[in-house]
Amino acid sequence: MSSILLRNVVLNGSTVNVRIEENRFQSISQSVPAEPADETLDAHGQMAVLPAFYNAHTHAAMSLLRGYADDLDLFDWLSNHIWPVEARLTNEDVYAGTRLAILEMIKSGTVFFNDMYWRGRQAVRAAEEMGVRACIGILRQTMGNPAFLPMLDNDWLLENRDKLSPRIQISVAPHAIYTTTEEILRDVADTAKKHGLAIHTHLAETKKEFDDCMEQHGMSPAAYVDRCGILTDRTVLAHSVFLTDKDIELLAERRSVLVHMPVSNMKLVSGQFRYDSAALFSKCRWAIGTDGASSNNSLSMLGEMKTAALRGKDVTGDPKAMKAADVFRAATRSGAEAFGIDAGVIEEGRLADCILVDLNNHNLVPGFNLISDMVYAADSSCIDMVVCDGRILMRGGHVDGEEEIVAGAREAAKRLTAQKK
Ligand SMILES: [Zn+2]
Repeated sequence: MSSILLRNVVLNGSTVNVRIEENRFQSISQSVPAEPADETLDAHGQMAVLPAFYNAHTHAAMSLLRGYADDLDLFDWLSNHIWPVEARLTNEDVYAGTRLAILEMIKSGTVFFNDMYWRGRQAVRAAEEMGVRACIGILRQTMGNPAFLPMLDNDWLLENRDKLSPRIQISVAPHAIYTTTEEILRDVADTAKKHGLAIHTHLAETKKEFDDCMEQHGMSPAAYVDRCGILTDRTVLAHSVFLTDKDIELLAERRSVLVHMPVSNMKLVSGQFRYDSAALFSKCRWAIGTDGASSNNSLSMLGEMKTAALRGKDVTGDPKAMKAADVFRAATRSGAEAFGIDAGVIEEGRLADCILVDLNNHNLVPGFNLISDMVYAADSSCIDMVVCDGRILMRGGHVDGEEEIVAGAREAAKRLTAQKK
């Protein structure tokens, strides 16, 4: 049994003592627990405890390609820049890139990522080692380039799903409707049902995807995937931009989770989330993701929250839209709930995921409203400590081994992009 006592931390404006036993919050109280803990940290009322962030969609290892090809059209970017490099990815590249991504996420307060990428076994390895939570996708798509075939670790992921750390989940992840077939999507639905897995896909990201789907199938992308059987209450839909009012009703009924990624949507000029839809916000489940570092180029949920709040106001012309508290909830509690993780809120009995923020950091002063400050003003420098599953992953802003992770990623990126296209 391991235990941690966080003494004199600020929670919802009060100074409390938080005791973590194994991987759950055991007690939260103004009195000091009688039982000594293995480790005690005293914040002297200078740090606040908050839920950590849950990144509902990313491609972690793409951090290796951060800044490699920017300011291009989506198709040009993918076909002429990203895919030729990705076709050469080795296991060690994916491992190094995922570790870099996890380092960035921990530093910015994120303890979970929902991943879709090649060589998923390496993402499992990196997440297991670094102590975060993750949902790793069994990637399904039609193979245009045979170089990608050996990069599918799908059999391994499926066979080993029950042997992994309880922090790691496996999903079935069809890339998108335009990179799969109806047969693949129906098989995804069957596989997910048979093994009790979540489904993770990109949906309705661009106008072209919407128009092509209408032309080929006579229905919207949301209606089409529903016909294929993949809209469940464990389905996570990245982007979900081009949705009709009818689609929104359908997604609400299916209880599928929409993932909002304002930075990626803006950078690739995909379109805008349905900020105008009262039905979406009152009926649908939605969370926040960063997408990969190639289309963001950051994995910080702090930046994503601020952009979501600002974009929602800008698009609707209503400064009351996308309130800080709603955006914060989507990035924390809703993200955890989307993946069935009993966390995202600091309560006795919940899984012990949290961050400690430094109330003396200039970004958080004078401190009238901590949630507003976290959404609109905070950066990673405000985060002092990150705890995931009862284990301290960062303290004093430092993650063990971070220098080696950075050096390994730099080396892998150099090797990967030095070869001829
Ligand atoms: Zn994506």
